[in-house]
Amino acid sequence: MDVVRTPHAGWIEVIVGSMFSGKSEELIRRLRRAQIARQRVQIFKPAVDTRYDGDHIVSHSELRIPSERADGAADLVSKVNPDTEVVGIDEGQFFDAGLPAACAALALRGVRVIVAGLDQDYLGKPFEPMPQLLAIAEYITKTRAICMVCGNPANHTQRLVQSTDRVLIGATGTYEARCRHCFDPTLAGTPASEFEAAAADSNLVATESPVGARTVATGAGPVPARTPAAQGAAEATPVRAPARAHATRAKRP
Ligand SMILES: [Zn+2]
Repeated sequence: MDVVRTPHAGWIEVIVGSMFSGKSEELIRRLRRAQIARQRVQIFKPAVDTRYDGDHIVSHSELRIPSERADGAADLVSKVNPDTEVVGIDEGQFFDAGLPAACAALALRGVRVIVAGLDQDYLGKPFEPMPQLLAIAEYITKTRAICMVCGNPANHTQRLVQSTDRVLIGATGTYEARCRHCFDPTLAGTPASEFEAAAADSNLVATESPVGARTVATGAGPVPARTPAAQGAAEATPVRAPARAHATRAKRP
């Protein structure tokens, strides 16, 4: 009996979550499966991501797979070979606003496109262009980490150093996975545009203490008007705060 294979149809898969949730691991797992099936695979990461290795996608667990650099969505599309069947893209949030259209064009011509990326920035806001990609994807996987403060499922990326740049490539100790209640978007500093009102009547931004918001949470420092997330952190702190998390904060300048 003849087996009739339907023409290869393209689609978009998106893997989103916080840092340390296993996005890159999941992306690498899917791409490996495709390679084992002898499908023609190309893998890209944004030129801005200089961590670990110049020409590999590397997960935090040291899984790695060879990749090419793309300097934006248009550059990525121009590097996809005509016979490529699967395109993997890591750190999708570092691409420009043209990424969703680029992925849609690739899918339309029969390519299976798999994009991994952060769905939220360090303030917990949707991290473009991932929201737009989620809207047009056929398949969505949301990965969760484990909150490094309380152990609950973590959906947020907590920045531990003072910086209000949206893109800050993290080294060890720069970020933690946090749950909704332990997440404190003001810990990295308060962008004027985001928390002007809160900053106006408090010393929320210029905290001199090396433990920053932790001082506020324990009641030892000034207690300005806090966001609900920060109040959650204050409540969660006494319950179970591992020594490692404290050590990380203590090192913070
Ligand atoms: Zn937590």
